[in-house]
Amino acid sequence: MDGGPEENAPQASKAPKTFIKHETHWAADGSLLLQIGDTRFKVLKSRLVSESTWFAALIEQRSGIVPAEPFPDQDEIDRVLATVEEVDGLDLFYLDVDNYPNHLESFSLLLTSMSNAIDYIYSPPKLADTVLLLEAADFYRAQRYVDFCITYIVGLLPDRMPGGDPANRALLVKGVKLARRYPGLSLILRPAFYDLARLWPADDDDDDDDGQYDDLSVADDDDATVNGDAKRASALEKLESSDLVLLLDIQKRLVFAWNDIVDIMEYKCESALCHKHHVGRIHHIRRAMAFDPIRGIHMILASPPVFAKGHYCAESTPKIREMLRKERNRIWKDIHLWYVP
Ligand SMILES: [Zn+2]
Repeated sequence: MDGGPEENAPQASKAPKTFIKHETHWAADGSLLLQIGDTRFKVLKSRLVSESTWFAALIEQRSGIVPAEPFPDQDEIDRVLATVEEVDGLDLFYLDVDNYPNHLESFSLLLTSMSNAIDYIYSPPKLADTVLLLEAADFYRAQRYVDFCITYIVGLLPDRMPGGDPANRALLVKGVKLARRYPGLSLILRPAFYDLARLWPADDDDDDDDGQYDDLSVADDDDATVNGDAKRASALEKLESSDLVLLLDIQKRLVFAWNDIVDIMEYKCESALCHKHHVGRIHHIRRAMAFDPIRGIHMILASPPVFAKGHYCAESTPKIREMLRKERNRIWKDIHLWYVP
């Protein structure tokens, strides 16, 4: 404030322009210079213009063309236009922007994708990189790359009725947050909320300790069973409070769904051939799957003791099984209504 160290001073736009050439994106035949922080890129202007409507607007307006109607991000374009300098006959723009913490890495991934996306066929990007790429593609309005990221992320957590253990724990909390930010990802809300609901809190004895999960996981700690719940809780704290409230509500509804399952199991036909119902045979499944009635129904249907010969009669057995399948579909369908804020 009063003559403090120089590095604490806000960077003036006309400060000495030291820079580092980006180690990858420095094209000898590049026709445009861009800089984020002190990293400078030399890129093909034509490619950026053809892939990103944001850059198309920037370059068009730099050439003096006034848009017929303002570009949606006109403020951003104006701000960057004002930074332009000429260096060795090329335009240099400073792209720095507030509230974009991983801008450099994210933008660099976008450039990499523009030149090497074909490689993704053989080696898909990591989830963390895909999220960064999506951020840049969304910011710079590179729609093909937005579509790629959305398709890819949705594929990691498909909107299918769960038949087994949660498939992708790394994408649950993150998935909800991403879907709230990018409406194109709303397809992952249902599987993400269902898996969050059934995993939290999880039994501490069937934790997966294989260290793959970076979201709800206990991965970075050997002392998993002691700290698992605490870590899970802290991962969940990254959710918006409105989504945390929804999650608790979803859990409650899943627990209540068991009442309907019990009602079905208490079915007895009128012919008195069903001597008694066998709801007692599902208690252990209900206990273990309190927040997971869908998989609970899978287990009931697959459980030989429940539908053994001589339990329900031959006529009732298929009826009960059909009612259970319908109940399972109903729960899965209803979840759509439960996570709308
Ligand atoms: Zn019967």
